[in-house]
Amino acid sequence: MDGAIHTMDPAKPLAKGIAFGDGRILAVGTNAQAEAWAGKKTEILELGGKVVVPGFIDAHAHLMESAARDANIDLGGAGSVGGALEVLRATVGGALPEEWVVADDWDESRWPEARYLTRGDLDTVSTTVPIAAVRVDRHMAAVNSPALVLLKIPAGTRGFETTSAGQPTGILKEGALEAMWEVVWPGPEGLAANFRAVATRALRLGITGVHDVVGEGEIRAYQIARAAGALPLRVTLMPRERLLSHLAAAGLSRGFGDDWLRLGAIKLFGDGSLGARTAALFEPYRDDPTEGGMLIHPPRELRDLLAGIHGAGFQAAVHAIGDRAIELVIETIEAVAPDPGPRHRIEHAELLHPEHIERIARHGIVASCQPNFIGRWSLPRGLYETRLGFERNARNNPYREILEKGVTLAFGSDGMPYGPLEGIHWAVNAPFGIQRLTVDQAVGAYTVGGAVAGFQEDVHGMLASGKSGDAVVLEGDPWREPERIREGGVSMTIVAGRIASRRM
Ligand SMILES: [Zn+2]
Repeated sequence: MDGAIHTMDPAKPLAKGIAFGDGRILAVGTNAQAEAWAGKKTEILELGGKVVVPGFIDAHAHLMESAARDANIDLGGAGSVGGALEVLRATVGGALPEEWVVADDWDESRWPEARYLTRGDLDTVSTTVPIAAVRVDRHMAAVNSPALVLLKIPAGTRGFETTSAGQPTGILKEGALEAMWEVVWPGPEGLAANFRAVATRALRLGITGVHDVVGEGEIRAYQIARAAGALPLRVTLMPRERLLSHLAAAGLSRGFGDDWLRLGAIKLFGDGSLGARTAALFEPYRDDPTEGGMLIHPPRELRDLLAGIHGAGFQAAVHAIGDRAIELVIETIEAVAPDPGPRHRIEHAELLHPEHIERIARHGIVASCQPNFIGRWSLPRGLYETRLGFERNARNNPYREILEKGVTLAFGSDGMPYGPLEGIHWAVNAPFGIQRLTVDQAVGAYTVGGAVAGFQEDVHGMLASGKSGDAVVLEGDPWREPERIREGGVSMTIVAGRIASRRM
């Protein structure tokens, strides 16, 4: 009661009181209108002028995949080879033989030794407990001798590094790394167990729904979590493309499931990333004129894939960052899905030209963007300026143009890191005019935008009578202090009319 409720409902944008019941919103309006619904068991919260918005929908998340790493040891803060080994020693002590210890995020480029971790290093930590230490780029790992014994990787496997004498160095890349992941990646039960902590953190950030990229293990894990009553937020699955034929063969399509766990878009890659210079560009990279990025699928293959997804009754969610990849994806969607109904999505959509925006508007294609990338990479003298030069950087992530042309804009984080307020902050305080949104627009993209991208606008995304009871009470007021949005926290997260997380 007595809140500054921003409903995102154009018919009634502001309210003071809101009543929940049976998982839904019973009333939004004045305090008196909300109180009219109070019964004996009703809990009445005095909001004291606090800001309330609809529950945030992170439209591009990797929550269950993060659960795989949740119990891992963090080597990101280690300042040297010795420092990394010390962190490992402190935690390996209690582990049992054959019980894997997995560590993440070592980065030798920040170490005085400037060399990789090796089998020899890790053997000084333990010669009985298998250890796998994954480099920050996740394209390489170092393992110790007991790990090599358990992994049984055949000599000659691609990426299995050996000395000139044929001794394994412990460095695993490519095929050898994949073989390691098959052994080390937690099974569905392990993922589901770790998911509790991950979900709790998401709720604390105000996330009440995610569109989550998943493989078969993660889908299974979600079902285990759901059956155990440990799915406290709403999940729209975005299965990886390799699962399409199986889903389609089982007769499944978009929307299968219920309001807590359901099938959404099929996720596939169009290109790589700007950081790795693999996003496909029309003009070469500014800091490497020999490089123009890469298309993951040649045009004909992409066309077959998208036709398959569309034909099976699914939405496609195609990762496309560079302008060349974006244009190819648009062209292909226009060809395989001439009717704008299916709301196919472009994930990231960073280097959109004005002409692309017009085409995606005409075609009802959703732009699924990550405004946190702006704060991370697109600020002056940041990574994107280095890769792209000033002019192209000044045109990346043009959210304002996207909305002005009538395109559905759905915000998400890609887990880098999670945090809707962080993303909203950078959309509102973006360095370039064509990126910058009003607070209403930015909050809208993190609520209504996600609901539309997931075909759930009838139930989610707005605070209106009859919609789902998902809401967030903020500590700060983004409308009053737009330059400080990211400093503000979330004081309460409500899912299906119940308090799922509270800090007040
Ligand atoms: Zn992603």
